[in-house]
Amino acid sequence: MSYFTELGLAEPILRALEAKGYNDPTPIQRQAIPALLEGRDLLGIAQTGTGKTAAFSLPSLHRLAANPKPRTPRGCRMLVLSPTRELAAQIADNMVGYAKYLNLSVQTVFGGVPVGKQISALGRGTDILVATPGRLLDLIEQRALVLDHVEIFVLDEADQMMDLGFIKPLTRIAGLLPKQRQSLFFSATMPNEIAQLGKRFISDPVKVEVAPQSTTAEKVAQYVTHVDQKEKQALLTISLKKGLESGDIESCLVFTRTKHGADRVVKHLIAAGIEAAAIHGNKSQAQRTRALDGFRAGRVPVLVATDIAARGIDVPGVSAVFNFELPNVPEQYVHRIGRTARAGRGGMAISYCAGDEKTYLRDIVRLTGVQPIAAPLPANFLEQAARLPKPSAKQLGAEHSEDNRNGGSNRRNRQAEARNRGPRRHPDVAVRPKGARPAPANAEGTARSGEARPAGRQNDGRNRNRNRRRGGGRPHAAQA
Ligand code: AMP
Repeated sequence: MSYFTELGLAEPILRALEAKGYNDPTPIQRQAIPALLEGRDLLGIAQTGTGKTAAFSLPSLHRLAANPKPRTPRGCRMLVLSPTRELAAQIADNMVGYAKYLNLSVQTVFGGVPVGKQISALGRGTDILVATPGRLLDLIEQRALVLDHVEIFVLDEADQMMDLGFIKPLTRIAGLLPKQRQSLFFSATMPNEIAQLGKRFISDPVKVEVAPQSTTAEKVAQYVTHVDQKEKQALLTISLKKGLESGDIESCLVFTRTKHGADRVVKHLIAAGIEAAAIHGNKSQAQRTRALDGFRAGRVPVLVATDIAARGIDVPGVSAVFNFELPNVPEQYVHRIGRTARAGRGGMAISYCAGDEKTYLRDIVRLTGVQPIAAPLPANFLEQAARLPKPSAKQLGAEHSEDNRNGGSNRRNRQAEARNRGPRRHPDVAVRPKGARPAPANAEGTARSGEARPAGRQNDGRNRNRNRRRGGGRPHAAQA
């Protein structure tokens, strides 16, 4: 019997969780589910990766199933708003999985795809609708959707909604929802303006907060290389070639500050024979989906993303995150590196810090309490850089092919071999930092990157103290 049973969730939901292999609730699930089952409003401070989708989905599905109702044409009983298409698709996928043994339908609507199919599908009505705000309002204006029957409303990633300028659409949507409803409001951060926005949706909420942001970095081995801006591309290409070939890196996310910068990085990587794809707001929905699918399936090992596009990405196996440019908002760094070291695995974050980014680095260190290990430039960097193939002027101007599938299986074979060989570590940090212990051996007798010590060791004192203050022991896998 799992702890989920004790939470009082219906049997078909428990069966779906078993099928997914979830044994224990994550901290946010433990805290949120009982209150939500009682019908309380909820204010959740949590980010993607904590298990918050299940935290709001499971009790909602339980309540909807406990009170079955026929579908109302053009209506829905539960509305989930998400800032990005990718996150909306991911939430809907998860909900379909959790509702597998229930007679509840899940639909998704977001922009960037033709509206016609969405309108006809909504005609029959749905139990659960996951939507981005812009397309939702479009559909309401076209009289393809009414919100009069919403019983449960979830606003996810509120801070990102604000970043994306969704405040007006949200205010309009708030006015269209029935007064009598259950509301859930989630945000990774809770500055005053977000709290004010929350007040428009929730009343007398239960407040749930998990893993203060600065602690999510604990399981990630963090490195920084001080490098000129103009040398970053060569450094990335060289590190990725080495890391992918050795298997130290299986799949990685590269963060750039701009959409244009993401495209440029991809073009250079492809010119150097590294399969890569970009994901950002200027890409069509088809390109974004193709890039993500290729990345998830392991065909494309490198995904280059801007912060906003990357928010919804949940790929359990990301072994490294490269900060090609450091974010100017330190919380964003924690979001980024939270993409690796998920589901109990270890991971590595490598930041490239140019002279004018040093203040960003200082702010990040202050927030996380972790000083990344300095990784030097690779030996013979300049000679290696000079030998790298560059994209032609035509390639740089043209839309690149993002669907380069050649060589995937060879790469996977190399990675499998490397996995059996030993621990994952920064390709250019040859020696363990002073005082670091070797990683412990796993059942196969090989040291695994998950337990790679460098950053953990370096964090040790401070993080242990922080944990102790929180009364926490081992952080839950999904918190990482
Ligand atoms: P989320 O924060 O909702 O994006 O979830 C992060 C990841 O954790 C997803 O891949 C979920 O499938 C997974 N997950 C959520 N709850 C659990 C759980 N109780 N046990 C194991 N994995 C979980």
